Amino acid sequence: MGDSLNSPEIDVQGLLKRYGLRPDKSLGQNFLIDPHYLARVADAGNITNVDVVLEIGAGLGNLTLQLAERAKEVIAVEIDPQLIPILRRVTSSKKNIKILQDDILKINLEDFIPSGEFQVVANIPYYITSNLMRHITSGESRPQRMVLTIQKEVAERITVQSGKLSLLALSVQVYGNPSLVSKVPAGAFYPVPKVDSAILRVDFFPSPLVPEDQLDSFFKLAKASFSQKRKKLRNSVSAGLNVEKEVVEGLLAEVDIDFNRRAETLSLGEWIKLTDRFFRSNSPKN
Ligand code: SAH
Repeated sequence: MGDSLNSPEIDVQGLLKRYGLRPDKSLGQNFLIDPHYLARVADAGNITNVDVVLEIGAGLGNLTLQLAERAKEVIAVEIDPQLIPILRRVTSSKKNIKILQDDILKINLEDFIPSGEFQVVANIPYYITSNLMRHITSGESRPQRMVLTIQKEVAERITVQSGKLSLLALSVQVYGNPSLVSKVPAGAFYPVPKVDSAILRVDFFPSPLVPEDQLDSFFKLAKASFSQKRKKLRNSVSAGLNVEKEVVEGLLAEVDIDFNRRAETLSLGEWIKLTDRFFRSNSPKN
């Protein structure tokens, strides 16, 4: 379907040259220029004309135009003031694109999407991947779906199943179901990055797997465990949360988790059980 939409292609190199600009490495500027992969990213969101789409790092607008063909409205956030005039020009024929010059990590999504219903589709600057995940999931309204082009290794780490869960994987999988849509070769971008990329899709659950009032405890516990991930759980949790080893041992035993295990061997289900046990042992009794 994507290829039949025939969005005008943008000559990224030509435009940059004409405006006397160079890709800014410090802002993670690697523009997706291969039309096949642009369409794949846009299609991976299954967007229809009732959807509001948030695009992060719109650059020169090549993905923005693809999204505008499919969505009801596209909110395109771009931090670099030098790109904004070009972005406006390139997208001027589309009335359903709203451009915001801002740092995505500094804005409240609720302010721009009052309905709270939206999807995220973006080829993001890789240096903000983890912070962006946190920013998007910790807001008042979370998207229904998120499609991101990110570094391939990071996408693989996020989609990994039990047995090798990292803090990053946990912090995505507690909110939704991640899947790897496609790999994207480095040659699909300009300039060509040093790493390969992949399209990651996350389908969010209606509510997180850990109750909202336990999310804080969940992340505290996981951070403590993963900050010394080579250590046994009894020691890493005790050191990280400043709780006596015997107490940690007792709580782990109550949820059938051997205190000799290391953080990455726990399944998401075990993290959820453990969080609940810790949460109840900490909450004030009344
Ligand atoms: N989507 C475009 C550009 C991708 S490059 C394309 O695929 O071609 C990443 C873009 O994110 C750059 O334009 C960069 O300026 C922008 N960017 C970097 N940090 C940002 C931030 N914190 N908030 C919003 N945009 C950011």
